[in-house]
Amino acid sequence: MNDLICTSCPKRFPGQARIWKCSCGGVLDIEFSASFPIEKIRQRNLNMWRYREAIPLEDDENIITLGEGFTPLIPLNFAGKKVWIKQEHLFPTGSYKDRGASVLISKIKEWGINEVVEDSSGNAGCAIAAYCARAKIKCEIFVPQDTSPAKLAQIQAYGAKVRLIPGSREDTAQATLKAAEKIYYASHSWNPFFFQGTKTMAFEVCEQLGWQSPDVVILPVGNGTLLLGCFCGFQDLRQAGLIDKIPRLIGIQAANCAPLYLAWQENSPDLPFITQKETLAEGIAIAAPVRGKQILQAIKESSGEIMIVEEEEIKAALIDVSRRGFYIEPTAAATIAGVNKYVAHSLPGETIVSVFSGHGLKATEKILKILASLHQK
Ligand SMILES: *Cc1c(COP(=O)(O)O)cnc(C)c1O
Ligand SMILES: [Zn+2]
Repeated sequence: MNDLICTSCPKRFPGQARIWKCSCGGVLDIEFSASFPIEKIRQRNLNMWRYREAIPLEDDENIITLGEGFTPLIPLNFAGKKVWIKQEHLFPTGSYKDRGASVLISKIKEWGINEVVEDSSGNAGCAIAAYCARAKIKCEIFVPQDTSPAKLAQIQAYGAKVRLIPGSREDTAQATLKAAEKIYYASHSWNPFFFQGTKTMAFEVCEQLGWQSPDVVILPVGNGTLLLGCFCGFQDLRQAGLIDKIPRLIGIQAANCAPLYLAWQENSPDLPFITQKETLAEGIAIAAPVRGKQILQAIKESSGEIMIVEEEEIKAALIDVSRRGFYIEPTAAATIAGVNKYVAHSLPGETIVSVFSGHGLKATEKILKILASLHQK
């Protein structure tokens, strides 16, 4: 009922094969036919598991949940244009990564695996650690040395072991791959079950718009957990005949770390090697995303595009939404800076959706610095 298929070679594996990548080294996707019994869905609790028939898990007993999902979708004004904002910072751990963690850890529980490793610049680590705590699964999270203290505290509070790795985000990924030779890798970037969770955001957006697809969805993109998840979710909805078009997906990167943007500009399927500069948008500062090719393909197929935002624009977006009562982290503000850029040339009447991807309480130090820099002017 759900096969794992390689995106780089013709190999397929049964869904129960406890692997997270192909023997050729390629990333895996899941072939799964989702269904949407709308009348039943309507009567269920307001969380992401209301789309039960669209999530590839065998047994309900294995569902690991903290009541996540069905976040509010509210209209906000940007430069006179209406944009529907999905409040994905209002999750149990403070970011939409809970969608992916809930499905992935449920699957891991179903398989009877009792120990995992994961690496993260913060939020994915928090989400995996929280759902492992809920499932009583042992977990170790590898993080770069400069990870924000709030995220480190959160991971440790859930009872996960933290491994601080010196060097870049890529050095952390390498150290984790080594550990993953022995312990199951609950990776948000590699593991296809994570994307079977993040895709539920597309379902919710459509249901909240009256089972209609928006025209444009503006999303952050580093590893693409939300962008590829949404692409998969909209494809599921189209296959089930609920919507007739996939919205244009606009991916936002920080100019200081924008390998996908550079590849997009050059119309190249391969990512350039970049030396990243520091950015406020730590959550999307991914120099070598493992699903890079897939992200470029999804954006192309949706007739979307990739845009970049500067540090000053990220700051301004953060201050703007805070002054309207929404407290989000700088990574999330990067997407909103992208919204500002997009609406400057959007067509009248377009239904535009975007997200607040992470909570401001995750990044107290960075936000204090931003506020201090305002007073200096
Ligand atoms: C993970 C994350 C993103 C998007 O990240 P990807 O690397 O594309 O998966 C955006 N915002 C926040 C707050 C995040 O935690
Ligand atoms: Zn393969």
